Amino acid sequence: MKNIAIYPGSFDPVTYGHLDIIKRAVKVFDKVIVAVAHNSEKDPVFSVLERVELLKKATIGIRGVEIDDFHGLVVDYVKRKKLRVVIRGLRMISDFEYEFQMALTNRKLSKEVETIFMMPSESYSYLSSKLIKEAASLGANLKGFVPVFVEKAIKSKLTS
Ligand code: ADP
Repeated sequence: MKNIAIYPGSFDPVTYGHLDIIKRAVKVFDKVIVAVAHNSEKDPVFSVLERVELLKKATIGIRGVEIDDFHGLVVDYVKRKKLRVVIRGLRMISDFEYEFQMALTNRKLSKEVETIFMMPSESYSYLSSKLIKEAASLGANLKGFVPVFVEKAIKSKLTS
């Protein structure tokens, strides 16, 4: 049986931090399904379809990655897929409390689903999609934070 994990999130948009986690995850799992959530409470800059397209482009060349999107609870999506492992990235201690709450809530919702945390390279441990969008709106150069085509996509959103 293949060892498949799901990496869910907003990915609004994908950053080198997400890509770092994806590259680490495919070393451990046969396949990693990166799944964009439809029901984020946040006010997204990119539509789910746009986020999926950016992720597909950003992961070309990484073997064992599939990009998908889902509605509803992560645990329900995982069960629909007949899988049991969820991957989440941990950047700073500041991520810990929220991620801890979410992992334990998911465990309560479904005993079969296990959350595995992965840490990115320290050079990406401060990176977030939110920060990138704020920096871009103030005219920052995003080189080193996101792929060039993602930077272009953010900038065209900001000027439209
Ligand atoms: P959320 O699901 O909270 O909206 P994101 O979609 O941005 O967050 O991220 C999805 C997952 O990737 C989360 O587990 C988040 O902690 C993780 N992540 C985001 N940015 C980074 C980063 N720079 N390094 C490691 N993990 C990250």
